[in-house]
Amino acid sequence: MATAGHVEVRGVHKSFGALEVLRGVDLEVRPGEVTVIVGPSGSGKSTLLRAINHLEKVDRGLVSLDGDLIGYRRTSHGVLQELKERDILRQRTHIGFVFQSFNLFPHLTALENVVEAPVSAQGRPRAEVEVEARALLARVGLADKADVHPRRLSGGQQQRVAIARALALRPKVVLFDEPTSALDPELVGEVLDVIKDLASSGTTLVVVTHEIGFAREVATTVVFMDEGVIVEQGPPGQVLDHPRHERTRAFLDKVL
Ligand code: ADP
Ligand code: MG
Repeated sequence: MATAGHVEVRGVHKSFGALEVLRGVDLEVRPGEVTVIVGPSGSGKSTLLRAINHLEKVDRGLVSLDGDLIGYRRTSHGVLQELKERDILRQRTHIGFVFQSFNLFPHLTALENVVEAPVSAQGRPRAEVEVEARALLARVGLADKADVHPRRLSGGQQQRVAIARALALRPKVVLFDEPTSALDPELVGEVLDVIKDLASSGTTLVVVTHEIGFAREVATTVVFMDEGVIVEQGPPGQVLDHPRHERTRAFLDKVL
């Protein structure tokens, strides 16, 4: 695993047509920290995660990872220039992304799913990557499922493969967008346990979730978003137990 993973989001705005979805977001995630983002549906959480790895091009503002601008470079005249697609893809390999809907390749085994990106995107030798991929599958509790195709895995197992796949790129930060929302309730715990293990190993994580208990237990910082802005953020005990804003209180009353 690569070290560091310092994410800075500065003054980010994003509109879709007339709808302003991000209205000036500032967020700092320091290396090894776990930031949990909560907020109502439609508040811009997914758009923010997608903006962090340049899957969504922002209208205004900047994102950087360990001091490197994401998606842009600054010319000698100080002008921002969007990077070429190839360079953006290379940057993105530093940022793991785990989606709500696991998005595994159905025709590949669990092992092949984990091996694919480090070989194709990072050009690493397959044999070396395979050794690491097996270790990652073991880490997420799936050592015995390496040769199984996704359709024969439960949702929780598929999501754990997706986590192993994200880690195989040795990312500096891993973004999770509602990683347990598509799971049957009895499978949520096994996925949260894997994320907790990552958190305690010092991986920088940004997790969008409605699992408030998880946030309380694991988050360094809880961020409450509403209508495209960060309404408040702070340690879980502050934001979840003593929210300062009425909007945070109203949201927590609904989900707790
Ligand atoms: P959240 O993840 O908090 O539920 P999203 O970031 O997914 O919120 O969406 C915020 C708003 O932006 C929603 O109103 C959504 O419909 C809208 N939106 C998201 N992506 C697009 C898109 N590609 N085109 C148009 N509208 C979008
Ligand atoms: Mg979302």
